Amino acid sequence: MNKSIPFKILKTLATIASGTGKRKKLFILIYHRVLDKPDFMRPGEVDNAAFTWQMELLAKYFNVLPLHDALQKMQIHTLPSRAVCITFDDGYADNYTNALPILKQFNLSATFFIANGFLNGGRMWNDTVIEAVRNFPLPELDLAAIDLGRFDVSDQSKKRQTAEQIIGQIKHLPAVQRDQLAAHVGMQSQNLPGNLMMTTEQLKQLYQSGMEIGGHTVNHPILAKLDNQIAEQEVTVNKIFLENILNTSLRFFAYPNGKPDQDYNQQQIPLIKNAGYQAALSTQWGVAQQISDIWQLPRFTPWDKSPIKFMLRMITLYHKGNV
Ligand SMILES: [Zn+2]
Repeated sequence: MNKSIPFKILKTLATIASGTGKRKKLFILIYHRVLDKPDFMRPGEVDNAAFTWQMELLAKYFNVLPLHDALQKMQIHTLPSRAVCITFDDGYADNYTNALPILKQFNLSATFFIANGFLNGGRMWNDTVIEAVRNFPLPELDLAAIDLGRFDVSDQSKKRQTAEQIIGQIKHLPAVQRDQLAAHVGMQSQNLPGNLMMTTEQLKQLYQSGMEIGGHTVNHPILAKLDNQIAEQEVTVNKIFLENILNTSLRFFAYPNGKPDQDYNQQQIPLIKNAGYQAALSTQWGVAQQISDIWQLPRFTPWDKSPIKFMLRMITLYHKGNV
Protein backbone atom coordinates (compact mmCIF):
# COMPACT_ATOMS: atom_id res chain seq x y z
CA MET A 1 0.00 0.00 0.00
CA ASN A 2 1.18 3.50 -0.77
CA LYS A 3 2.68 4.90 2.41
CA SER A 4 1.24 8.37 1.85
CA ILE A 5 -2.42 7.23 1.88
CA PRO A 6 -2.86 7.38 5.69
CA PHE A 7 -1.36 10.87 5.62
CA LYS A 8 -3.83 12.00 2.98
CA ILE A 9 -6.63 10.81 5.25
CA LEU A 10 -5.01 12.50 8.25
CA LYS A 11 -4.69 15.73 6.25
CA THR A 12 -8.42 15.67 5.55
CA LEU A 13 -9.14 15.03 9.22
CA ALA A 14 -6.82 17.93 10.17
CA THR A 15 -8.67 20.22 7.75
CA ILE A 16 -11.99 19.36 9.40
CA ALA A 17 -10.61 19.51 12.97
CA SER A 18 -8.97 22.91 12.45
CA GLY A 19 -12.38 24.50 11.95
CA THR A 20 -14.14 26.65 9.40
CA GLY A 21 -14.82 30.37 8.92
CA LYS A 22 -14.58 32.43 12.11
CA ARG A 23 -13.87 29.33 14.13
CA LYS A 24 -10.57 28.46 12.41
CA LYS A 25 -7.97 27.36 14.92
CA LEU A 26 -4.27 28.14 15.21
CA PHE A 27 -1.87 25.50 16.53
CA ILE A 28 1.17 27.11 18.17
CA LEU A 29 3.94 24.58 18.78
CA ILE A 30 6.44 25.13 21.57
CA TYR A 31 10.03 23.85 21.54
CA HIS A 32 13.05 24.53 23.72
CA ARG A 33 15.95 22.62 22.23
CA VAL A 34 16.93 20.65 19.14
CA LEU A 35 19.67 18.30 20.38
CA ASP A 36 22.46 16.90 18.20
CA LYS A 37 21.32 13.40 19.12
CA PRO A 38 19.07 11.78 21.76
CA ASP A 39 20.24 12.56 25.30
CA PHE A 40 19.36 10.29 28.24
CA MET A 41 19.33 13.33 30.54
CA ARG A 42 16.78 15.17 28.36
CA PRO A 43 14.23 12.62 27.13
CA GLY A 44 11.61 15.32 26.53
CA GLU A 45 13.65 17.25 23.95
CA VAL A 46 13.72 16.56 20.23
CA ASP A 47 16.96 15.90 18.36
CA ASN A 48 17.95 16.77 14.78
CA ALA A 49 16.38 13.63 13.34
CA ALA A 50 13.03 14.06 15.12
CA PHE A 51 12.87 17.78 14.42
CA THR A 52 13.55 17.08 10.75
CA TRP A 53 10.61 14.70 10.32
CA GLN A 54 8.37 16.99 12.36
CA MET A 55 9.20 19.98 10.14
CA GLU A 56 8.84 17.89 7.00
CA LEU A 57 5.40 16.78 8.21
CA LEU A 58 4.36 20.38 8.97
CA ALA A 59 5.65 21.64 5.61
CA LYS A 60 3.81 18.89 3.74
CA TYR A 61 0.46 18.69 5.50
CA PHE A 62 -0.03 21.97 7.38
CA ASN A 63 0.11 25.72 6.73
CA VAL A 64 2.98 27.11 8.78
CA LEU A 65 2.76 30.88 9.17
CA PRO A 66 4.91 33.52 10.84
CA LEU A 67 3.29 34.41 14.20
CA HIS A 68 2.45 38.04 13.27
CA ASP A 69 0.85 36.89 10.03
CA ALA A 70 -1.18 34.15 11.71
CA LEU A 71 -2.46 36.43 14.48
CA GLN A 72 -3.44 39.10 11.96
CA LYS A 73 -5.26 36.55 9.80
CA MET A 74 -6.98 35.13 12.88
CA GLN A 75 -8.41 38.57 13.73
CA ILE A 76 -9.82 39.13 10.24
CA HIS A 77 -11.00 35.54 9.78
CA THR A 78 -8.65 34.68 6.92
CA LEU A 79 -6.64 31.99 8.71
CA PRO A 80 -6.08 28.98 6.45
CA SER A 81 -7.07 25.49 7.51
CA ARG A 82 -4.40 23.52 9.41
CA ALA A 83 -2.70 26.75 10.52
CA VAL A 84 0.46 26.28 12.60
CA CYS A 85 3.08 28.55 14.19
CA ILE A 86 6.43 27.30 15.50
CA THR A 87 7.96 28.84 18.63
CA PHE A 88 11.08 28.29 20.72
CA ASP A 89 11.64 29.49 24.29
CA ASP A 90 14.81 30.53 26.16
CA GLY A 91 17.56 31.04 23.54
CA TYR A 92 19.53 27.79 23.35
CA ALA A 93 22.51 27.73 20.97
CA ASP A 94 21.13 24.64 19.22
CA ASN A 95 18.20 26.79 18.04
CA TYR A 96 20.79 28.47 15.83
CA THR A 97 23.08 25.53 15.04
CA ASN A 98 20.44 22.80 14.61
CA ALA A 99 16.91 24.21 14.29
CA LEU A 100 17.67 27.06 11.90
CA PRO A 101 19.17 24.93 9.07
CA ILE A 102 16.21 22.50 9.29
CA LEU A 103 13.66 25.33 9.28
CA LYS A 104 15.42 26.79 6.24
CA GLN A 105 15.49 23.40 4.52
CA PHE A 106 11.68 23.30 4.63
CA ASN A 107 11.27 27.05 4.14
CA LEU A 108 9.54 27.47 7.50
CA SER A 109 9.38 30.47 9.78
CA ALA A 110 9.54 30.41 13.60
CA THR A 111 9.55 32.79 16.57
CA PHE A 112 12.29 32.57 19.21
CA PHE A 113 11.65 33.97 22.72
CA ILE A 114 14.92 34.97 24.34
CA ALA A 115 15.87 35.38 28.03
CA ASN A 116 18.83 37.66 27.35
CA GLY A 117 20.49 37.21 30.76
CA PHE A 118 21.91 33.87 29.62
CA LEU A 119 23.27 34.85 26.21
CA ASN A 120 27.05 34.58 25.66
CA GLY A 121 28.01 31.77 28.01
CA GLY A 122 25.25 31.83 30.61
CA ARG A 123 23.46 28.75 31.90
CA MET A 124 19.96 28.36 33.31
CA TRP A 125 19.82 26.88 36.83
CA ASN A 126 18.06 23.69 35.72
CA ASP A 127 20.79 23.06 33.13
CA THR A 128 23.42 23.48 35.85
CA VAL A 129 21.72 20.69 37.81
CA ILE A 130 21.28 18.43 34.76
CA GLU A 131 24.89 18.83 33.56
CA ALA A 132 26.38 18.46 37.04
CA VAL A 133 24.51 15.22 37.69
CA ARG A 134 25.41 13.94 34.22
CA ASN A 135 29.12 14.54 34.81
CA PHE A 136 29.25 13.37 38.43
CA PRO A 137 31.95 10.68 38.51
CA LEU A 138 30.98 8.66 41.62
CA PRO A 139 28.01 6.27 42.15
CA GLU A 140 26.53 8.32 44.98
CA LEU A 141 25.88 12.06 45.03
CA ASP A 142 25.73 13.38 48.59
CA LEU A 143 23.79 16.62 48.90
CA ALA A 144 22.93 16.18 52.57
CA ALA A 145 24.95 19.31 53.38
CA ILE A 146 22.28 21.39 51.62
CA ASP A 147 19.38 19.24 52.87
CA LEU A 148 18.62 17.65 49.52
CA GLY A 149 19.63 14.14 50.54
CA ARG A 150 21.76 11.43 48.98
CA PHE A 151 21.24 10.10 45.48
CA ASP A 152 22.17 6.89 43.71
CA VAL A 153 23.67 8.05 40.40
CA SER A 154 25.24 4.73 39.41
CA ASP A 155 23.62 4.51 35.97
CA GLN A 156 22.05 6.71 33.29
CA SER A 157 18.43 6.28 34.32
CA LYS A 158 19.27 6.98 37.98
CA LYS A 159 21.16 10.11 36.91
CA ARG A 160 18.14 11.32 34.97
CA GLN A 161 15.79 10.61 37.88
CA THR A 162 18.16 12.35 40.29
CA ALA A 163 18.31 15.52 38.19
CA GLU A 164 14.51 15.54 37.88
CA GLN A 165 14.13 15.07 41.60
CA ILE A 166 16.57 17.84 42.52
CA ILE A 167 14.94 20.22 40.02
CA GLY A 168 11.52 19.40 41.48
CA GLN A 169 12.78 19.97 45.02
CA ILE A 170 14.24 23.42 44.40
CA LYS A 171 12.07 24.74 41.53
CA HIS A 172 9.60 26.69 43.66
CA LEU A 173 12.05 28.18 46.13
CA PRO A 174 12.81 31.92 46.02
CA ALA A 175 15.14 32.61 43.07
CA VAL A 176 18.21 33.55 45.11
CA GLN A 177 17.99 30.41 47.26
CA ARG A 178 17.23 28.21 44.25
CA ASP A 179 20.22 29.58 42.32
CA GLN A 180 22.51 29.07 45.31
CA LEU A 181 21.43 25.44 45.66
CA ALA A 182 21.81 24.86 41.91
CA ALA A 183 25.29 26.41 42.08
CA HIS A 184 26.17 24.08 44.96
CA VAL A 185 25.04 21.09 42.88
CA GLY A 186 27.08 22.53 40.00
CA MET A 187 30.21 22.59 42.16
CA GLN A 188 30.03 18.79 42.54
CA SER A 189 31.09 18.44 38.93
CA GLN A 190 33.84 19.50 36.59
CA ASN A 191 33.36 20.67 33.03
CA LEU A 192 29.99 22.38 33.13
CA PRO A 193 29.23 23.59 29.60
CA GLY A 194 29.43 27.31 28.92
CA ASN A 195 28.03 27.15 25.42
CA LEU A 196 24.44 26.01 25.91
CA MET A 197 22.91 29.38 25.03
CA MET A 198 23.24 31.54 21.93
CA THR A 199 25.78 34.29 21.53
CA THR A 200 24.49 37.72 20.51
CA GLU A 201 26.11 37.12 17.12
CA GLN A 202 24.11 33.91 16.63
CA LEU A 203 20.96 35.70 17.74
CA LYS A 204 21.56 38.46 15.19
CA GLN A 205 22.06 35.91 12.44
CA LEU A 206 18.90 34.07 13.47
CA TYR A 207 16.98 37.33 13.14
CA GLN A 208 18.68 38.23 9.85
CA SER A 209 17.67 34.81 8.48
CA GLY A 210 14.06 35.98 8.66
CA MET A 211 13.09 34.51 12.03
CA GLU A 212 11.03 36.52 14.53
CA ILE A 213 12.57 37.28 17.94
CA GLY A 214 10.36 37.80 20.99
CA GLY A 215 10.84 38.73 24.65
CA HIS A 216 11.09 36.24 27.52
CA THR A 217 12.44 38.45 30.41
CA VAL A 218 16.09 38.94 31.39
CA ASN A 219 16.54 36.22 34.02
CA HIS A 220 13.61 33.87 33.38
CA PRO A 221 11.97 34.41 36.80
CA ILE A 222 8.61 33.09 37.93
CA LEU A 223 6.88 36.45 37.38
CA ALA A 224 4.08 35.58 39.83
CA LYS A 225 6.65 35.56 42.65
CA LEU A 226 7.96 39.05 41.90
CA ASP A 227 6.56 42.38 42.96
CA ASN A 228 5.28 44.44 40.06
CA GLN A 229 8.24 46.81 39.90
CA ILE A 230 10.80 44.01 39.52
CA ALA A 231 8.54 42.11 37.10
CA GLU A 232 8.22 45.26 35.00
CA GLN A 233 12.02 45.65 34.93
CA GLU A 234 12.44 42.05 33.84
CA VAL A 235 10.05 42.64 30.95
CA THR A 236 11.18 46.09 29.80
CA VAL A 237 14.96 45.64 30.19
CA ASN A 238 14.76 42.41 28.18
CA LYS A 239 12.76 44.15 25.45
CA ILE A 240 15.04 47.18 25.21
CA PHE A 241 18.19 45.00 25.22
CA LEU A 242 16.99 42.76 22.39
CA GLU A 243 15.62 45.69 20.39
CA ASN A 244 18.99 47.45 20.60
CA ILE A 245 20.90 44.38 19.46
CA LEU A 246 18.53 43.61 16.59
CA ASN A 247 17.59 47.17 15.70
CA THR A 248 13.91 46.30 15.54
CA SER A 249 10.75 46.38 17.66
CA LEU A 250 9.75 43.22 19.51
CA ARG A 251 6.12 42.32 18.93
CA PHE A 252 5.57 39.22 21.06
CA PHE A 253 6.31 38.00 24.57
CA ALA A 254 6.29 34.52 26.14
CA TYR A 255 5.84 34.19 29.93
CA PRO A 256 8.72 32.27 31.57
CA ASN A 257 7.49 28.76 32.49
CA GLY A 258 4.16 30.14 31.34
CA LYS A 259 1.39 28.45 33.33
CA PRO A 260 -1.40 30.99 34.07
CA ASP A 261 -1.89 31.88 37.75
CA GLN A 262 1.09 29.73 38.69
CA ASP A 263 4.00 31.29 36.77
CA TYR A 264 2.37 34.68 36.07
CA ASN A 265 -0.80 36.23 37.38
CA GLN A 266 -3.61 38.12 35.69
CA GLN A 267 -2.60 41.44 37.28
CA GLN A 268 0.74 41.22 35.46
CA ILE A 269 -0.76 41.17 31.98
CA PRO A 270 -0.91 45.01 31.78
CA LEU A 271 2.90 45.02 32.27
CA ILE A 272 3.23 43.18 28.97
CA LYS A 273 0.75 45.46 27.21
CA ASN A 274 2.39 48.60 28.58
CA ALA A 275 5.83 47.42 27.45
CA GLY A 276 4.54 47.77 23.88
CA TYR A 277 3.95 44.14 22.94
CA GLN A 278 1.13 43.12 20.59
CA ALA A 279 0.40 39.66 22.03
CA ALA A 280 1.74 37.17 24.59
CA LEU A 281 2.02 33.40 24.79
CA SER A 282 1.55 31.10 27.75
CA THR A 283 2.31 27.39 28.07
CA GLN A 284 -1.32 26.52 28.76
CA TRP A 285 -2.05 23.47 26.61
CA GLY A 286 -4.43 24.24 23.78
CA VAL A 287 -4.99 25.77 20.34
CA ALA A 288 -5.79 29.44 19.74
CA GLN A 289 -8.81 30.86 17.99
CA GLN A 290 -10.29 34.27 17.35
CA ILE A 291 -12.00 34.34 20.76
CA SER A 292 -8.74 33.51 22.59
CA ASP A 293 -7.14 36.10 24.87
CA ILE A 294 -4.24 37.42 22.76
CA TRP A 295 -2.34 38.12 26.01
CA GLN A 296 -2.40 34.43 26.97
CA LEU A 297 -2.31 32.39 23.79
CA PRO A 298 -2.05 28.65 24.47
CA ARG A 299 0.65 26.39 23.03
CA PHE A 300 1.30 22.69 22.76
CA THR A 301 3.76 20.20 21.25
CA PRO A 302 2.94 16.51 20.76
CA TRP A 303 5.66 14.31 22.25
CA ASP A 304 4.96 11.34 19.99
CA LYS A 305 7.87 9.54 18.41
CA SER A 306 6.07 8.54 15.20
CA PRO A 307 4.76 10.91 12.50
CA ILE A 308 1.28 9.31 12.40
CA LYS A 309 0.80 9.55 16.17
CA PHE A 310 2.22 13.10 16.19
CA MET A 311 -0.28 14.16 13.54
CA LEU A 312 -3.17 12.34 15.25
CA ARG A 313 -2.44 14.22 18.46
CA MET A 314 -2.45 17.51 16.55
CA ILE A 315 -5.82 16.59 15.02
CA THR A 316 -7.21 15.68 18.45
CA LEU A 317 -6.10 19.01 19.92
CA TYR A 318 -7.45 21.00 16.97
CA HIS A 319 -10.74 19.20 17.50
CA LYS A 320 -10.97 19.54 21.28
CA GLY A 321 -9.39 22.99 21.51
CA ASN A 322 -7.64 22.19 24.77
CA VAL A 323 -6.34 19.24 26.71
ZN1 LIG B 1 11.45 29.65 29.12
